[in-house]
Amino acid sequence: MDQHDRSGEQSWLQWDQGHPYSKRYGDRYFDRDGLAESNYVFLRHNDLPARWANRRAFTIGELGFGTGLNACLTLERWRQTARPDACLDYISVESHPLGADDMRRALAQWPQLGRTADALASACQQLQPGFNLRVLESGRVRLLVLCGDVDRMLEALDAQVDAWYLDGFAPARNPDMWSETVCRLLAARTRSGGSFATYTAAGWVRRNLQAAGYDVCKAPGFGRKRDMLHGHLAKAVDAPAQGDAAAKPWFQRPKPAATDHAVVIGAGLAGSATARALAERGLDVTVYDRPKPDVAPPSRLPALIVRPYPERAANLRGRFYDAAFGHAAHRLKQAAGWHPTGVGVIAHRGRLSGHVLDAAELTQAVGTPLQAPGQWLPNAGWLHPTRWTAAWLDHPRIRCLNQPAPDRLAGVPTVLATGAAVTDWDSIAPVSRARGQMSELAPPDGKPLPTAALAGGGLCVPSTGTAWVGSSHQRGQTQATPDADEAASYVTNWLERLGWPGSVDVLTHMAAVRAGTPDRMPQVGPLPDAAWWQSQYADIRHGRPGARFPIGRVVEQRWLHRGHGSRGATAALLCGEIIAAAITGAPLPVDRETWNALHPGRSLIQALRRA
Ligand SMILES: Cc1cc2nc3c(=O)[nH]c(=O)nc-3n(C[C@H](O)[C@H](O)[C@H](O)COP(=O)(O)OP(=O)(O)OC[C@H]3O[C@@H](n4cnc5c(N)ncnc54)[C@H](O)[C@@H]3O)c2cc1C
Repeated sequence: MDQHDRSGEQSWLQWDQGHPYSKRYGDRYFDRDGLAESNYVFLRHNDLPARWANRRAFTIGELGFGTGLNACLTLERWRQTARPDACLDYISVESHPLGADDMRRALAQWPQLGRTADALASACQQLQPGFNLRVLESGRVRLLVLCGDVDRMLEALDAQVDAWYLDGFAPARNPDMWSETVCRLLAARTRSGGSFATYTAAGWVRRNLQAAGYDVCKAPGFGRKRDMLHGHLAKAVDAPAQGDAAAKPWFQRPKPAATDHAVVIGAGLAGSATARALAERGLDVTVYDRPKPDVAPPSRLPALIVRPYPERAANLRGRFYDAAFGHAAHRLKQAAGWHPTGVGVIAHRGRLSGHVLDAAELTQAVGTPLQAPGQWLPNAGWLHPTRWTAAWLDHPRIRCLNQPAPDRLAGVPTVLATGAAVTDWDSIAPVSRARGQMSELAPPDGKPLPTAALAGGGLCVPSTGTAWVGSSHQRGQTQATPDADEAASYVTNWLERLGWPGSVDVLTHMAAVRAGTPDRMPQVGPLPDAAWWQSQYADIRHGRPGARFPIGRVVEQRWLHRGHGSRGATAALLCGEIIAAAITGAPLPVDRETWNALHPGRSLIQALRRA
């Protein structure tokens, strides 16, 4: 992905009589009558809206997101014609996404799209390379924008698409978008009976689509174009899954559950995010929690920071948290308990990367004098977790019960979101427990509270007239009694950073227990059937190719969502979406590699490899 040029516009984008034009491909994004063409080519020749009219879930895939015109029109038509309880997944691949302002400008010529165009552009404000999930239409539409090269993105995608819109730049100018490999990947991600439509009728594109298994027809093209292509896939391609899932059958996702009901155990951040995502996908969800938990849940602390971690490595884990933050920052807009104050990350142990502000600039951004340089994250903020969970669980399909879950929940998908509580599954999916504490300070006279949250070796969050500072990290400890001595080191640190005297009033302390994992990724996915894995995968240490092993057996309808360590406020929402998608058979909102890295069976596989 290229970056914006210094004027804030994309350097490859030009405006030609009000129409966006790509210098890179020497082609317009759409012709003069773009909206009518989009309707004719993509909706009409995929037989839409008729095909989605009676479906509770429908998935559209698109190559070439461009200005968002097809997505915008589809959302408009879907809103008017879909069942009131339906949900739509709209996946789009784009190697060079436009900025939100350019999208708005391009779509402004159709005032009738106004509200949808604006919502779409806002959703696309902070797209990152890779998978970007955004939720629209009060939770009924999931937009998944895959930013990157088309073949890599399609390989990483785990989805069964009902209708494809093939809308890349012209085949002669952008042949990679229409290659044989791409057509095979499209077919491998198309449901039986799924369809495609495209404005082009190029002979080699037709042949590639036919070779991939599609029945292809010609139809009169739109406007001055002579012909176009459309067609369908009579039977889903019965080929081994593409990409790395083929090499790792143990992580393949289980078949979706045929059920209208799900259970979530635990109403912290993880449980609430999962329950809401399941409810929005049409399931009735019962959430169980305990009024008096055995281990103090950190989701009941007064303030948690939601932010990206640019100071950490840009590896798979870094990319996962970037994607999780992008999703959370968009989803939390208008949510109860969300405070989009921005976050200043103060330099700590030399860890800072990207654009660093000097102390004076950081002071300006956070509204209180600081002596150290740092980073400014304007889209980040902090969450009041209990206010957020209460509001998030307030959904007509969610029922909350303050009681232990029944022992037998056969046949019902059950998600364990029990944080640091001890479970029967700890030997399969191990977590480490660490007590942490934060304290509330009254600001001394004449010293302003920061207007933004602060991070970097702890946290400082301005609440109503006071500041919550933290936090400690006591590995292996699980008691929740507040401890004034434990507070001393982080309180002193924050008093120094804020330039406050040592005599400030410490009003109260709160402690809770985090659950972390050895590789610092949460555990999100189905629970492996450990005995079966140990017998079937005993040979993996001999290096037999993954494809020779059977697909991993899982404990029926048991799912895990925990192990967020110190980042649950940033990642729980995206992880809830991953579980809901996997349970209902919807497109996974993360790439296959990330799904594998989150899988609760990963420790078992590592142990078998080492055995
Ligand atoms: C001091 C401190 C500061 C932190 N700061 C940040 C921060 O700034 N940003 C950030 O992102 N993260 C932060 N974290 C981490 C964050 O709070 C956690 O990652 C997150 O709250 C974990 O949420 P959870 O839902 O997975 O678990 P929990 O919050 O532990 O929730 C689990 C829930 O399950 C329930 N439960 C357990 N067992 C059962 C059972 N058998 N039946 C029914 N219910 C059950 C519990 O009662 C609880 O409600 C911090 C943590 C600590 C301790």
